[in-house]
Amino acid sequence: MVRSFGAGLWGLTPVGQRTRRKLLRHLRAVMSEVDGQEVHLPGLQYRDRWEQSGRWESFENEMFTLRNRDGQELCLAPSHEEGMVHLVDGRVRSYDDLPVLVYQIATKFRDDRPRNGLVRSKEFTMKDAYSFHASESSLGATYRRIREAYLRLFDDLGLTVAVVEADNSVMGGSRSEEFVAPVENGSHRLRFCRDCRFGVSDEHGDLERFEGGDDCPECGGTLTASEAIEVGHIFELGTRYSERMGLTVDLRDGSSRDVLMGSYGIGVERLLQTIAQQHADTDGLSWPVTGWGSIAPFRAAIVPIGDDESVRETAETLYARCGPDDVLLFDGDRSPGERFAESDLLGIPVKLILGNQFRETGNVELEFRDGQTDYATPGDVPEIVSRFAAGRSGG
Ligand SMILES: [Zn+2]
Repeated sequence: MVRSFGAGLWGLTPVGQRTRRKLLRHLRAVMSEVDGQEVHLPGLQYRDRWEQSGRWESFENEMFTLRNRDGQELCLAPSHEEGMVHLVDGRVRSYDDLPVLVYQIATKFRDDRPRNGLVRSKEFTMKDAYSFHASESSLGATYRRIREAYLRLFDDLGLTVAVVEADNSVMGGSRSEEFVAPVENGSHRLRFCRDCRFGVSDEHGDLERFEGGDDCPECGGTLTASEAIEVGHIFELGTRYSERMGLTVDLRDGSSRDVLMGSYGIGVERLLQTIAQQHADTDGLSWPVTGWGSIAPFRAAIVPIGDDESVRETAETLYARCGPDDVLLFDGDRSPGERFAESDLLGIPVKLILGNQFRETGNVELEFRDGQTDYATPGDVPEIVSRFAAGRSGG
């Protein structure tokens, strides 16, 4: 699914990119549900705006900086609060224009020490959203709405996450929470509650106050100890950026005030990596299937055994009717065992086997990734397989 290009740099194979594309499509759908508007900002940014916000210095050790041929200083943006303020400045004048929620899915750069594969990438994709408000209550409402939308997203994807209250240093502002996914090999240590998602990590909160097995302070459930990876982070930034960058809005009573902001990030490749890690087994990946569907690279793999005409014809019919863009049809002369192993390694939810069973009864053998087996007529297979699609209707 991935290939290393040196420390902290990763490429995705065609199969990896299929899964990533399904995830991106769902991210966009979730942002539409909360009235987010997609925008696009340049990854290269001049120094002046970062001087205004005061972050050129604070990001110094993590930011890639460069000079162009005219000697001007630029950075490869590690985050886009400054850019988003510039984008809405002048377009947002009155309290009537607010709230506004904009987001982008774009490449970010951080000169971070690589730890644990994709987690500490120097270049990665982030879905970052930013909201602008004329009042604290409006900011709070949007913050809660996006928090709930992200939790639903993680549920759709079959990812277990805890919510860790975080301090708010580099981004600045008042309130912030991290979404942290428990995994076997992570970059943080976590104690979390499966019932209410309460969590404390060694990055934020007093980890040493809790042991695995302790009672959850929120709901009385039981805390679990795990390593973990941060997959998302949301902030009530308040007026930290607008104050310094002069973004104001006119209020109903004729006065004006600094615009309140929130920012809401999700790391795309981290999300893929943690979903993969939480569900892999000794045979390989095992993409989860939820009521929403699955981001598995293919919803099914067709494995024809032998090349008699009825097998070949049925394989082609299934391929056409199960969603040809989303089904892997094995051909070529590799052995059935190799095909089974490859399908399981990629985590494809079901194998459609056309072998002896099919020759004897006309039924397709369905072998699910969890080892369960079932039989169905070729006509019934597309409907069964559709529940493994991304968003069920997607491909
Ligand atoms: Zn709890």
